[in-house]
Order: sequence, then structure tokens, then C-alpha cells
Amino acid sequence: MDCGISGKALEECLKTAGISGSTIDAIVITHEHSDHIKGVGIISRKYNIPIYANGPTWQAMKGQLGRIEDENICIFETGSEFYIKDIKIETFKTSHDAAESVGYTFSFMDEKVAVATDMGVITKSVLEAICGSHTALIEANYDQNMLEIGSYPYDLKCRIKGECGHLCNNDTAKLAKLLAESGTERIILGHLSEENNYPPIAFETVRECIKDTLTELLVVLKDGMVAKY
Ligand SMILES: [Zn+2]
Ligand SMILES: [Zn+2]
Repeated sequence: MDCGISGKALEECLKTAGISGSTIDAIVITHEHSDHIKGVGIISRKYNIPIYANGPTWQAMKGQLGRIEDENICIFETGSEFYIKDIKIETFKTSHDAAESVGYTFSFMDEKVAVATDMGVITKSVLEAICGSHTALIEANYDQNMLEIGSYPYDLKCRIKGECGHLCNNDTAKLAKLLAESGTERIILGHLSEENNYPPIAFETVRECIKDTLTELLVVLKDGMVAKY
């Protein structure tokens, strides 16, 4: 899902994970912001990988991807479901300042994994889509105090805090609680701001809310590794 790093950086990550690029069957896209699509065109061309996105996202990102083979342009409608091999993929709308940003759930046999990042508010459609997932990667973008006292310009701070911006740790904690109550076994915090968040703070804020549950909590670090505190 997505590829916001350069093609070269992705190759390094795949190598570390022991995965060959030629085994990737598809890339699904959440939205056109560069931190999500930077390496998508390069990787698609190199390994001939189909790219899945909704129509508005394709319109918004096609100028940034370079040449993509027609056969690798796959368009879905937000809210629809489709299959890539045996994996059932469902899409749902997220509240973000992009053409038509989405989140995904991936189901195989009786396992369901949800990914929901880049959203200013937790909407009913997000909850309906991701509650009950076994594993959920959710955004914990910023700590409210760090954003307030940080160096970002006023306009950017407003954008991040807005309904079409990003989730703060406190909102993520509320979402995590709902997920834990719905039976989610593992929650992974991702899309942390390097400037306005600190992994141990995000982790602690969320853990405080779900400490009475058995749900495992992890946080994705800058280098892509996961940690717990
Ligand atoms: Zn974004
Ligand atoms: Zn993003």
C-alpha cells in the first residue's frame, strides 16, 4: 500500500525484509500526497506492477507518476470491494485534504487487516470499516502540545488540526479503545510526524486508553521498524 519513499529506498527496505520486488502483485493507493506516492511510478515500471486507485486520485496523481502502462492503471470506486489474488480488499473514505483519500481493509481466510491514516476526524464510515479487524494500522500523527509549540507556520498547524488534516494522539487513543473493544488483537500506530510527535509519547497516550484490554500495541518508527515501550 502506497510508496512514499524513493524507488531506491524501497529497494533497500525490501532487501532488509527479504522480499523481492518481483513478488509484489499490486500497489494500492490511499491518496496523491507525495509522502504516499513518491516511489510508486518507479516501482510499477521496474517490476510491471498494477496500481489501484480511485478515479479522482488517478486524476490528481497521474502527472507525478511518470509513464504508466495502460494495463497497470486500475481504477476502483471508493466503497467498492475487489480481489487481488485471494485477498479481498475493501475501501472506505477518509476525511483528508486530497482528491478522494481512502483507507483499506485486507481480508484473507478469517484474518482482516485494516489501514487508516491521513484523516482529520474519525468518521462513522471509518469505524464501520475497520472495527472488528484483527490488526489495525492507524495514524497517530501529532502530539497537540508539540504541534502548538513547534516551528510550523500557523496555516500549516491549522491544516494539520483541521477536519481534513491528521489525527492527534488523543483522538488516536479514542479510536484505539473502540478497536480494542471490537476485538482488534493488534494495533500499530503509524504516520507519526517527525516534527510534532515522539514515538514513546504516542505509545503511552494510546496505551493509557487500552491498558485494560489484551490488545497488543506497536508503533512504527522513522526507519520503518516497529517498537513497543
Ligand atoms: Zn496526506
Ligand atoms: Zn500522509
